[in-house]
Amino acid sequence: MSTKRSLQSGGRRAAAEAFEPERIKVVVFDADGVLVHGSTLYPAGLPAWQWVQRSGRRTYLLTNNSMRSRSAYARRWQRMGFPLRRSEIVTSGYLAALYLRRELAGGRIRPHIFVVGGPGIPAELKAVGVPGSWTRDPADERPAHYVLVGLDKQVNYRKLSRALRAILYDGAVFLATNRDATYPTERGLFPGAGSIVAALAASAGREPAAVMGKPEPRALELIAREVGCSLEELLVVGDRLETDILCARRAGAWSALVLSGVTDRKRLRSVTDPDELPHFVLRDVGQLPDLFAHPARYRWATPGP
Ligand SMILES: [Mg+2]
Repeated sequence: MSTKRSLQSGGRRAAAEAFEPERIKVVVFDADGVLVHGSTLYPAGLPAWQWVQRSGRRTYLLTNNSMRSRSAYARRWQRMGFPLRRSEIVTSGYLAALYLRRELAGGRIRPHIFVVGGPGIPAELKAVGVPGSWTRDPADERPAHYVLVGLDKQVNYRKLSRALRAILYDGAVFLATNRDATYPTERGLFPGAGSIVAALAASAGREPAAVMGKPEPRALELIAREVGCSLEELLVVGDRLETDILCARRAGAWSALVLSGVTDRKRLRSVTDPDELPHFVLRDVGQLPDLFAHPARYRWATPGP
């Protein structure tokens, strides 16, 4: 086994030159298109997840969906027969709560936060212990220090107005859980959090100060910190080039694209941005054990992360 390393051009992180399966300590799975399709489990998902665990590696589920809290997510998956634990889940709502807790650590202000989003966001603010108060009620006129925007299926003009006015007149900091334009369901695409973020950004004339979920690398950095490993010891398995694969590339982690979700071979062959090129391509997660046994068979792009 070679331990030779190189520093790639362009200021990228130092990385292992070749994929060494024994160096991977964590497999980070995307949810939709990888383990589930809407509310239906893929048959290959649970065996792949359990194989990773039996191989002595850690498993994480990383989703940009902020509508449910980690606890609610775990309960929902357990009901479907998938033994997912809360500690194995990272959502964009959880990342936002951690971000706010860190921002406010040691400070004197007890901020008020206006949330455009589902119940998962307030639940995570509470679970993580963010100081201050928050509301999803546009009639709440308390001056806001932050506006946090995620996917809100009850979004309306009053909520957008309250969020805009908090940014313009309260001086609130504009934060977004993620910028996915759409999200996939069994009935096709629906507007994603990014469509609400875009509406607010257009009226405010500014972009969010920070975005939490994929393709931002902060989730993978958090997981590496939790596990106590380096980012090149992570393998991300996802179905979307511009979120899952880009997130892995930005973080300096390894990436495997599965063709069971939104990306087909035609789309894959049209990629021109090297940061959206997966290291490996699998038909679906069922091929994951074989990837670890025979990585060269699944190789798509070189060099390393
Ligand atoms: Mg997906």
